[in-house]
Amino acid sequence: MDTIVAVSSPPGPGARAVVRLSGRSAKAIVEQVWTSVPESPDCGTDASSIPDRRAVLAGHFDDGVGLLPGYLFWMPGPASYTREDVIELHLPGSPPLVDAALAQLFLLGARLAEPGEFTRRAFLNGRLDLTRAEGVLGLIEASDLAAQRSASKLLVGGLGRRISALREGVENLRALAEASLDFDTAETGHVDTTQLQALAADLEVALGEALLWEERREPSKGRPRVVLAGRPNAGKSSLFNRLTMETRAEAKASELGRALVSDLAGSTRDGVSGIWRIFGVDVELMDAPGIEVVSESADASAKAQELARGERSGADLILWAVAPESVVEVQLQSDAQQLLETGNPVICAFTKSDQTSLQEGADSAGGISMTGLPPGDCVTLSSKTGAGISSLEDAVGEKLGLRRAGRDPGATVVAAAALGRELSARHKTAIQGALRALDEARGALVAQIPLDLIAETLREATDELDSVTGETTPEDLLDRIFAGFCLGK
Ligand code: GDP
Repeated sequence: MDTIVAVSSPPGPGARAVVRLSGRSAKAIVEQVWTSVPESPDCGTDASSIPDRRAVLAGHFDDGVGLLPGYLFWMPGPASYTREDVIELHLPGSPPLVDAALAQLFLLGARLAEPGEFTRRAFLNGRLDLTRAEGVLGLIEASDLAAQRSASKLLVGGLGRRISALREGVENLRALAEASLDFDTAETGHVDTTQLQALAADLEVALGEALLWEERREPSKGRPRVVLAGRPNAGKSSLFNRLTMETRAEAKASELGRALVSDLAGSTRDGVSGIWRIFGVDVELMDAPGIEVVSESADASAKAQELARGERSGADLILWAVAPESVVEVQLQSDAQQLLETGNPVICAFTKSDQTSLQEGADSAGGISMTGLPPGDCVTLSSKTGAGISSLEDAVGEKLGLRRAGRDPGATVVAAAALGRELSARHKTAIQGALRALDEARGALVAQIPLDLIAETLREATDELDSVTGETTPEDLLDRIFAGFCLGK
């Protein structure tokens, strides 16, 4: 494996840039351009050589023109991200200086890494299984909280670990079945397979759990959730209709969409839910029952409020609608308090801005200070005319982390989300395939089918599981997965 190099910090100026090398010659290359300052704790007697063990050195990088001050992190393989020798140079984050440093490293024989090549090497060297590599990708590309959570679950090995344990279970079962073959030919011609059947049944249960885990992880099910709150007549339903107008129109135009919409509506019990698209990202918007004066609550409305509180605490953000007629200090303060207690971010929308007759009472600057929220978290809008809606999208998009600096958010998000969904579907198909094979094997055990045939069926289950962890994933799919990474990762 040749030695690769790339800048692994974000592009553009910054306090520091990280230049990362991986490969057999990493140390030999860098030693030609590095001098440690002697007081560096890990520095040996020779300031131009890098010690054999893991070390952090302060010193200077010679880019051919001058000396760049920086740090060197030396991680000899296999205790490194790629399991190869890895060096990270932390240099001043000025793009021309970083380019000069890279050019110097190319001259000395390092090659520019392909996108995702570091992670691909980690995968090829057995440091990460494919599900965790997908987690790294997902995390880099995550456009919102939900995608981030879903990717982190993969990255910490949630699926990979489950699948490896299951694979081991299936292999054990197969070994037992093969061992029993010897008895099969004994005079009775009959093997007691009760124990094997029980093992197969246990594995099926565990596979079912892995499938459920993957289904729950799916980012499409974990869209960011925004919950509408506000007093009756605050303009919540009108705002809900305005924000979900685009996706409802789409849904009407397609059968599939209609199913999706009714599905979502059903899942919210008494509330209504729809899709609000912000910067091309689908956000689930829920219109839950309002905040009401507590003392007059009949049972039904108490239940509704409890539901609304529940929805709000499960929310990623609360969109609080305030009508001009209810810009009243005590009321705003207590409502704000109640909402902030849920621990979720709150964006306040002062509604009905087109109602000029009410405009004075709705002095939104006054209203803003009454809520105690930062002015940037308050927007004045009209669901009727659409005024202020894009400012609301900016505020909410910002809070949910939907906008990504320097990139076309729509395109990146859509591409990453599509690949993520495809991979997740692959995982599920493979687990289902393994389940089918195990079920077949168990049936065959009951039916006293010859054990060598059963061992063969169990091998199919192992193959299915191997495709999840990447043991048997086709090369072109690997190419597509790793090409989705950015340079330097
Ligand atoms: P909810 O009870 O909070 O869901 O409030 P609604 O959405 O049902 O709105 C209450 C009333 O305010 C209705 O009569 C709406 O037509 C009216 N309303 C809501 N938004 C606007 C708006 O932007 N402009 C005007 N002029 N009226 C609005």
